[in-house]
Amino acid sequence: MLGLMQNWPMTVDKVIDHARDWHGGREVVSRSVEGPIVRTTYAQIHERAKRLSNALKALGVEQGDRVATLAWNTGRHIEAWYGIMGIGAVCHTLNPRLFAEQLCYIINHAEDRIIFTDLTFVPILKANLANIPTVKHIVVMTDEAGMKGVDLPGALCFETLIAQHGADCAWGGFDENSAAALCYTSGTTGHPKGVLYSHRSNFLHTLVTMGVDVLGISARDVVLPVVPMFHANAWGLALSCPAAGAKLVMPGQKLDGASVHELLETEGVTFSAAVPTVWLMLLTHLRETKGQLTTLKRVVIGGSAVPEAIVRGFGDEYGVDVTHAWGMTETSPLGTQATPNAAIAEMSEEAQLRFKLKQGRPPIMIHLKLENDAGDDLPHDGATFGKLKVRGPFVAAGYFRGDGGDILDDQGFFDTGDVATLDEHGYMQITDRAKDVIKSGGEWISTIEIENIAMGHPKAANAAVIGAYHPKWDERPLLLVQLKPGQDGTKDEFLAFLEGKIAKWWTPDDVVFVDDIPLGATGKIDKKLIRERMKDYVLPTAGAKVGA
Ligand code: AMP
Repeated sequence: MLGLMQNWPMTVDKVIDHARDWHGGREVVSRSVEGPIVRTTYAQIHERAKRLSNALKALGVEQGDRVATLAWNTGRHIEAWYGIMGIGAVCHTLNPRLFAEQLCYIINHAEDRIIFTDLTFVPILKANLANIPTVKHIVVMTDEAGMKGVDLPGALCFETLIAQHGADCAWGGFDENSAAALCYTSGTTGHPKGVLYSHRSNFLHTLVTMGVDVLGISARDVVLPVVPMFHANAWGLALSCPAAGAKLVMPGQKLDGASVHELLETEGVTFSAAVPTVWLMLLTHLRETKGQLTTLKRVVIGGSAVPEAIVRGFGDEYGVDVTHAWGMTETSPLGTQATPNAAIAEMSEEAQLRFKLKQGRPPIMIHLKLENDAGDDLPHDGATFGKLKVRGPFVAAGYFRGDGGDILDDQGFFDTGDVATLDEHGYMQITDRAKDVIKSGGEWISTIEIENIAMGHPKAANAAVIGAYHPKWDERPLLLVQLKPGQDGTKDEFLAFLEGKIAKWWTPDDVVFVDDIPLGATGKIDKKLIRERMKDYVLPTAGAKVGA
């Protein structure tokens, strides 16, 4: 027997319809790429997105066509998202931090027909136009004054397109399982692979992340998504904020400590989200300038493990609550968040910190499990490491065009490629990427744990641990440290700092001081590049080279 409730396809145009209808006057403030602060509202965004949909139709875009964006977080970028998705086209977010060859590969693989871009990226596109033949139009997200500086024959002006078309356009009306958005991930081996979100998966992710134990977005919040819309959909904030009626503050291209701080204060931001690197820059800026955070209450940090120094710094010095979250492009992205449950909330602050540093527990619709190499389930004892697998309605079932083959096991779980523990409270802790974990004498060593402790050393700006070849143990940990400017450091003082904080056999066999710790396109430490750079390095305890 079927239920007798209304059939209401969950398509994301309904999110911005809701924002227009019930929060129409709520502001969306952007630091524009041209410079000035620009103010708009959900009602205006809705109208302009409709005009854009008509412009796309006039350019021949049909349902299922891929339309890309190569852009910073701004109000215009949100208009492009809703304008594309509303008519059933697929919004493909491109990450401008990728190398040009990778960008071209992705554009060709997706067969993007149109690219919306900011002024910043016009030169990259111009230099690669010949290599992206499926792209028929490039729309520059600026006005006619901004177009004067654009040296790209045939480029279209965003504002002119919007002015030329009316706002009368039907949205939705298709199956909620239709593709809505596409984002490529370089997380796995080989070429980047496309994660193809549906309207339904985006809608469900929006509802789940709005919950108080997840991002907890309310109509009273003022939200600054530092996390880019081109990386894992800004953790869904461009959907959950209009859904809740929260004011949005979009930082554009300026993500340095001073620029972020200015927006936090002038716009009264209460909630923000970013990767650890950005928060570290903000913390450094605040300390140097004796700046204050008068409105910010909560920040969510994810993408890489959050170091203890950040949680303590924001909490103790500025009264801002930091919550740690984990996710992947394949999980839309939010998979876990370290919000306390009832038992943990009753613990002392020091005891709670232990859980705050974990990646957290899954919300409804995320199902996690741990497995060993033989496929056996592992205990949730907080100590046993295993492969982390995930299942749920906003987790990828396969990659675009079938790349990577069948990615689910026979129970429908996706192997995240992360190695983790799960404890008795259901808190997950990532110990490594499967490809980065160090296997020493057959036992696993967590590089992330050593890095996090080493980063707490007052002289350390950043730290990375890789496995270096060792004839007896296969691999031993090698610690690379980038010192803060003007600091000197010694191997012994870093090893002494780790003593007592990690198992003795986890102690790195050597410490090497480097000028920089390279970060990849999504802000994570680029271990592949570090291994490449260190390929001729020989451990003092070994007498052989690092395994590449
Ligand atoms: P991406 O798809 O680029 O967002 O990368 C996803 C990967 O980032 C995950 O599989 C993890 O390896 C890593 N990651 C994300 N969040 C965290 C976190 N909070 N702590 C440690 N690693 C994380």
